[in-house]
Amino acid sequence: MKKFVFKKTLKSIKQKADIYNILSQNDIQLTTQVKKEVIFPLNQEVEDQIDKLVDTLRLNKGVYEKRGVAIAANQVGLDLRFFLLADYDANPFDIQKRILTICNPQILDKSKETSEEEEGCLSIPEQVAFVTRPISILVEYQNIMGKKIKQELSGLQARIFQHEIDHLDGIHMLQRANRVEVNPLYVQYQNKQKALQNQKEL
Ligand SMILES: [Zn+2]
Repeated sequence: MKKFVFKKTLKSIKQKADIYNILSQNDIQLTTQVKKEVIFPLNQEVEDQIDKLVDTLRLNKGVYEKRGVAIAANQVGLDLRFFLLADYDANPFDIQKRILTICNPQILDKSKETSEEEEGCLSIPEQVAFVTRPISILVEYQNIMGKKIKQELSGLQARIFQHEIDHLDGIHMLQRANRVEVNPLYVQYQNKQKALQNQKEL
């Protein structure tokens, strides 16, 4: 009997994963620079915050349902310089995909060559932005163990790092956009919501 109760409890915990609300572009924390660095070894509070943010990235609902590739700590109101990066080559709906914790990231150098590409943001699901950024960058950060890593990044990876470091500096993609468009995923999402609403009314 006791065993049964335990199993039931575990199941209900899994169903109601504790995740953060993702803040929208109008929230002051998205336009405020995060100053606090992540200190190693991590204390329990920070470990719990990272775990909860990992669940948030894996299970987020709404327009980007489970498809977010990265999220910065201040997008959920955490005042710490780190962001999460999912393995974006994996199936976007694979919630077990690998997620890296990038702490105290810094851009040491950037290429003169730039490109304009489309970007999306979990905090701005209604729109996509076309942003010009350096094609490659040299970054330094600490991994989840506190190990310092220096890496040259290019292409999509360089773009994601710049987008997320911007978040930590209080800058979001609309502030850098050459132009914005309605996010096609948002249109799909709205249509789905309307269909559900109509079903309820029938
Ligand atoms: Zn973003």
